[in-house]
Amino acid sequence: MTSLDKRPGEPDGRGAIEISGLRKSFGTNEVLRGIDFRVGPGEVVCVIGPSGSGKSTLLRCVNLLEEPTSGSVNVVGVDVTDPDADIDAVRRRIGMVFQSFNLFPHLTALGNVMIAQRKVLKRDKAEAGRIARENLERVGLADKIGSYPAQLSGGQQQRVAIARALAMGPEVMLFDEPTSALDPELVGDVLGVMRGLAEQGMTMLVVTHEMSFAREVADRVVFMDAGAVVEEGPPARVIDDPSHERTRTFLSRVL
Ligand code: ADP
Ligand code: MG
Repeated sequence: MTSLDKRPGEPDGRGAIEISGLRKSFGTNEVLRGIDFRVGPGEVVCVIGPSGSGKSTLLRCVNLLEEPTSGSVNVVGVDVTDPDADIDAVRRRIGMVFQSFNLFPHLTALGNVMIAQRKVLKRDKAEAGRIARENLERVGLADKIGSYPAQLSGGQQQRVAIARALAMGPEVMLFDEPTSALDPELVGDVLGVMRGLAEQGMTMLVVTHEMSFAREVADRVVFMDAGAVVEEGPPARVIDDPSHERTRTFLSRVL
């Protein structure tokens, strides 16, 4: 079984995200105003919503890059807001892909995918190299393992970043607008890799403006505005037949 195979059942809640009553303020600015939702094992949930609505902050609370002001966030069966939780151990089980790829410019694609495996997971060079090759192949970059970031297109660099996250064997993948920085002709390859992961049963929480991806790949779509979930449901309902005026207004701008 590889890290990408579906984990059926998961009675202990592993592979899932459960958020309840999540609030986050920066000073007096309340950015998340009581968020509740769940991503079940193997589910793909897309979060959509206008800029500034709190989508990145939500993802950062799931990954503990931000500390929630109140509420609970349970990831892969661990309540990450519990002061006794081993946050580093949980973080290793969550893969995160950002809009900016943040590859090391002085390392090849292979080196970029190996480095965290070596430093964080303490894998030896041979094993880290083998797993890096496997994952670069999985994102369609078998022929680019020796290339440096500057020799790769934005879409290829983002695929290296996805391979880097996958090489850590995550149970959950978080994506924050992974294609927003790409030229339009490069978006499809990255979305294709993400679609493949979804088909292999990866649990995914994806912030995106790519409505066709959300429509075709997401099990559920969550529309956020002003720090709250306005509506959520199957993509065919939320995207094609929204219940709320705010959702309709947002969609009329992005579709
Ligand atoms: P989105 O990803 O939906 O565009 P963000 O989560 O990035 O929204 O931001 C939501 C709000 O939180 C914005 O008003 C932003 O200015 C504020 N914010 C985000 N991060 C910080 C921070 N580290 N310090 C202060 N304010 C922040
Ligand atoms: Mg954002």
